[in-house]
Amino acid sequence: ESRDAAERVADLVSIVRQTVDEHVDELGRMDAIAGDGDHGIGMQRGSHAADAAAREAIAAGAGAGTVLERAGDAWSHRAGGTSGALWGLALRELGGAIGDERAPHATSVAAGVAAASDGIRSYGKAEVGDKTMVDVLVPFSATLTREAETGASLADAWGIAADAAVAAAAATADLLPRMGRARPHAEKSLGTPDPGAHSFALIVRAVADVLTE
Ligand code: ADP
Ligand code: MG
Ligand code: MG
Repeated sequence: ESRDAAERVADLVSIVRQTVDEHVDELGRMDAIAGDGDHGIGMQRGSHAADAAAREAIAAGAGAGTVLERAGDAWSHRAGGTSGALWGLALRELGGAIGDERAPHATSVAAGVAAASDGIRSYGKAEVGDKTMVDVLVPFSATLTREAETGASLADAWGIAADAAVAAAAATADLLPRMGRARPHAEKSLGTPDPGAHSFALIVRAVADVLTE
């Protein structure tokens, strides 16, 4: 059973890679409006490295938590850029919380996402309202925790949290960036969502669709 869980987790890392591949040009264009235009390519490098590392971990007999930790290490080493460091951190935190012993469930995943959210905020120092992925991560995590506490299944809880993430990402269009490379060109980004917020929402939405299959 723990072997099945590890393979399901690795399949989700592949879904992340596929989702990034499908949106790589869109993410680059979005980042070029007020940033340096490398968000698509950076996410692609990171997610491809993470997918390969997850496959290697599976071949070596790793459990679900270890698969995610190896994927996170590879992501941050290979992606470069702010978002790469933050995605690597998030996957490592999530993997540590899930562990290798039990199949991931709503409560352990919610705790892992909360740890990832705390880790990203303490590393990157962005607050809600600064127009970064934190604007999506915080409501995503809060919704997941709330749904897990009410006893929802992982698929149901993640689906509801993903809907909150999509809405939060769209709402970043109205914000002015105060962090990262977009800050000097702040006003140009009005009307466009933050690229890191948008990619986060695309990814958690795609994972939700697979979890409910
Ligand atoms: P870089 O900014 O290094 O070129 P990317 O273009 O890949 O990296 O990622 C940009 C995204 O990273 C932004 O859209 C934002 O969501 C996120 N980001 C930037 N700085 C921070 C930060 N300090 N905390 C959280 N997220 C951040
Ligand atoms: Mg960039
Ligand atoms: Mg860059």
